[in-house]
Amino acid sequence: MLKRIIKKILSKDWVVNYYWQRIPNGVYVFNYHRIGNRNSSLYDRSNFSCSEKALDAQITELKQHFEILNIEELDKLISTEKPFDKRYALITFDDGYIDNYTLAFPILKKHNVSAVFYLTTDYIETKHIAWWDEVAYLIRSAKGQRYTIPGDSKEFFFSPDNIESVIKDFMYYVKRIHTPTITTIIEHLRASFPEHYETLRNNNESLFLNWQQAKEMAKQGMELGSHTQSHTILSQLDDASQKKEIDGSKQIIENMTGVAVHSIAYPVGRRHCYTDQSTEIAMQSRYKFGFNNEPGINRTIENRYDINRICIDSCDIKHLKMNCIF
Ligand SMILES: [Zn+2]
Repeated sequence: MLKRIIKKILSKDWVVNYYWQRIPNGVYVFNYHRIGNRNSSLYDRSNFSCSEKALDAQITELKQHFEILNIEELDKLISTEKPFDKRYALITFDDGYIDNYTLAFPILKKHNVSAVFYLTTDYIETKHIAWWDEVAYLIRSAKGQRYTIPGDSKEFFFSPDNIESVIKDFMYYVKRIHTPTITTIIEHLRASFPEHYETLRNNNESLFLNWQQAKEMAKQGMELGSHTQSHTILSQLDDASQKKEIDGSKQIIENMTGVAVHSIAYPVGRRHCYTDQSTEIAMQSRYKFGFNNEPGINRTIENRYDINRICIDSCDIKHLKMNCIF
């Protein structure tokens, strides 16, 4: 009860704004995924960070309160080894969805700010549909049906009344079980709803960027980074496979675009999703920086290969502020 009251007081506009003006010096790395209208997407809506309008407003706000850096400037800043004397920001986008080019890129150009786009190289210039997008698509299409996870007694009713929360619950569940694997679940979903899978397969839409678009963004002030080759959780891989993902993706992006890649964002990025070996390989592969997805302000940066990022998942600017404050 008391906690709820405190939370309510702390989320009042004047309280948030008071603390927003006084957030500490440091490097704030903001992380976006998809941009656009999540409510009209046939795919995983939770992967949308915010709308174009909200991104525009957020960049305006960030420009007022931070000095926005690019990777080279961050490198110079850290190399001085001095305590951070103000609030710096780095803007990043993960996964390489097409809307990063069609919607986010024009907004960033308009504001004359640079951002880093972390590409999953296996997805670029393909008709690939990420597993989370396929799961969301199939469940939404199979509204009204029942489904039981193979080899598991867990049953889901794809209720038409609250299909979006069913999708969320389903994702939450499958991310936490080890058996069956996601691959097995996807195959089973496809076999259970073959007509929806067929429609999805015939959909010719490209969800991800192509190399030309990535090159164009880099030519116009944006930066390209690696999000590995296949988006596999690095901590689940042996050293040789981690090297292929981390080092191989850098080489692919550099070969395909002619642009130097200086940083990597570990897929999913929570502490259990990468290892000391991942950060070590990133260093050996001559990246200058490695970013995780652990929320937090970097008041100091002791390990360049383990930098925290603040995830943006709401159009509401208050959420962005609160994520920096708490
Ligand atoms: Zn990702």
